Amino acid sequence: MGVGEITRKSLFALTLAGFLSVADKALAWPRGCISSLPSSSTKRAAWTVDDGASSAALGRYVTMLEKNPSVKITFFVLSGAPGWTKYAKRLKALQDSGQIQLANHTQTHRKLTKLSDAYIKQELNRCEAFCLEKYGRSSKPYFRPPYGEIDARVIRVAASIGFTKPVLWYGSFASGSGVASSTVLKSASKWIANGRILIDHANGYCTTNVFPQILQMFRSRKLKLVTLHEAFGTTPE
Ligand SMILES: [Zn+2]
Repeated sequence: MGVGEITRKSLFALTLAGFLSVADKALAWPRGCISSLPSSSTKRAAWTVDDGASSAALGRYVTMLEKNPSVKITFFVLSGAPGWTKYAKRLKALQDSGQIQLANHTQTHRKLTKLSDAYIKQELNRCEAFCLEKYGRSSKPYFRPPYGEIDARVIRVAASIGFTKPVLWYGSFASGSGVASSTVLKSASKWIANGRILIDHANGYCTTNVFPQILQMFRSRKLKLVTLHEAFGTTPE
């Protein structure tokens, strides 16, 4: 596969990828990575959603957000996946109202630790250019490395082009295509708590089929949902 391309085959592989293995990886990140929110007098959590390998699933997130204005999500945009273009207009409207944030998850979902410095920059810069073009706003300074693969070199190279906030996660919904919604509910229930950054994936319907239950978990735990900009007091460029 050529540089910068994301193929139907690689997208398909992504939808099949399980994320169960990362569910308990919290707190093991290299120095400089972010997996929790700054402390606050308000109980709050950040729901973050990656990939969008399934356009239809991404569409369900968009519709759920439009119906629930108090729900806030930070999306980590994989700009090579078509859903981010298909729903660009509605995503931009949600972004402009402050309900969502669109951060960087690269162009083609490579393991950044395996790439040259120049290629790491290209992966981030292409997604950044996409966000500027489609949504009129920078994805900086937040990025999430595909597969959570990150090291000191990736952190340094990303920071050199303005991506100074590598965002990992404290708990995972364990969502992936082929994962049962009951698994998502179990994982979400285990990890949803004050101050945490939670990772979810728009790669299938396992989370979207249980949106009401997920929303109820945040409500019953009295957690306000915030974007990363809101939590960290940063303003988009
Ligand atoms: Zn990903």
